Amino acid sequence: MTVDYHNKTYDYVLVGGGMGAGYATLGIREHDKEGSILILSREDHVPYERPALTKKLWRDEEFKVEDTKIGAEEEENVDFAFERDVVEIAPKEKSITLDNGDVVLYKKLLLSTGGEPRSIDGPEDDNVFTFRELDDYLKLREFSKKDHHVIIVGGGYIGSELADSLTQNDTQVTMVFPQSQLGEEMFPEELLDEYNKIFTSRGVNLIIEKKAERYRREGDQLVLELDDGEEITGDSIVIGLGVDPRIELAQRAGLETANDGVVVNESLQTSDPNIYAAGDIATYPDQILGRQRIEHVDHARNSGKQVGAIMAGGAKAYTHTPYLYSVIDDLSWEAIGTLDPSLNTMFDHREDGDIVFYLDGDELKGVLLWDVEVDLDDVREVLDNPPANKEDLIGLLEEQEQEE
Ligand SMILES: Cc1cc2nc3c(=O)[nH]c(=O)nc-3n(C[C@H](O)[C@H](O)[C@H](O)COP(=O)(O)OP(=O)(O)OC[C@H]3O[C@@H](n4cnc5c(N)ncnc54)[C@H](O)[C@@H]3O)c2cc1C
Repeated sequence: MTVDYHNKTYDYVLVGGGMGAGYATLGIREHDKEGSILILSREDHVPYERPALTKKLWRDEEFKVEDTKIGAEEEENVDFAFERDVVEIAPKEKSITLDNGDVVLYKKLLLSTGGEPRSIDGPEDDNVFTFRELDDYLKLREFSKKDHHVIIVGGGYIGSELADSLTQNDTQVTMVFPQSQLGEEMFPEELLDEYNKIFTSRGVNLIIEKKAERYRREGDQLVLELDDGEEITGDSIVIGLGVDPRIELAQRAGLETANDGVVVNESLQTSDPNIYAAGDIATYPDQILGRQRIEHVDHARNSGKQVGAIMAGGAKAYTHTPYLYSVIDDLSWEAIGTLDPSLNTMFDHREDGDIVFYLDGDELKGVLLWDVEVDLDDVREVLDNPPANKEDLIGLLEEQEQEE
């Protein structure tokens, strides 16, 4: 259905049709059943859960693409403009301009534009992609099979989850990254062997301490050139080098930005009171951790839902402290706060896993739950009010029954 939104005024315009916008729609509708909503997206899909792209869609046969939908499309009075780019915001006029020249007016505007994936040099190629969107999943799913070799550039958690999922689906995987082990930038030394063995035991070829510089096509193969001159040949290349938050729109509109993010107050409001920001791009004041910009799903869901409620007048502040998580094979980890292994780490060994406390001097900065289930509110409480004697952290967090 084509919607004529040119020169129309909406109560809520959501720029970016990803996770933040999806949850914001649900948050608005909890408090305002009728207000008109327009969701503008570069993608050609209604808002969906991105984490499923590296996990459930590969690992659970019952779980289908349809199940990833957040549900914004089921709400009344919501228009969508797909494959559209917002190119300009005019805060004084309370309007936005689209790449086709259309102008839309808003009463309240949400920016949740996520991050732009980093890449390396090389020609456009159907078999080379960053892995951020549903279309990337659909493409790779079609390619993945026994005699297909996927090279993953980067050793972050998205590339790692994908390596695990691809090998579970009979695809050959090589990973190239500059660190000496996977997980080195987050986890303490003591956990790295266990973590890396998950990948090597699945047959993932780990090429360590090397950076990918560029790629080229040779016949039906792709050739990845590394910084020491080595070349690796494969059928597909997935570039997983993280993202740069998309904040140029906000910058050009004169909104305050800092630390690569759009600065918001506790109500997720930018320096313009009619414009809000949520998800990956928002630099917000966290009640426990201080000012943060968090590129994780728990934050996208909660800041999205809450900003919707706030825009609709049903809530005042965003008070949630988000956690991050990942699942690789049988291992699942969760964390709140800073995971920086150059800090002091203190282990609380449990029967099936570990709790790791990250300390800067005496200050507790982060908590990692390594295959241990603990109520995350208990973790938040410990971060907010840590015991005076750090030794008392050991045994403090009570475990919950693991779900089968
Ligand atoms: C494959 C994958 C797996 C992940 N797994 C996990 C996980 O296991 N655990 C975890 O904690 N986090 C995970 N994340 C991170 C999490 O999904 C993100 O933090 C979350 O999606 C951020 O939501 P957002 O709304 O800020 O941005 P996004 O969901 O990225 O949405 C942004 C949208 O805005 C659109 N857009 C951008 N600019 C414009 C414009 N000018 N005009 C119109 N549209 C625009 C983009 O095309 C995109 O559709 C994962 C991310 C990916 C990609």
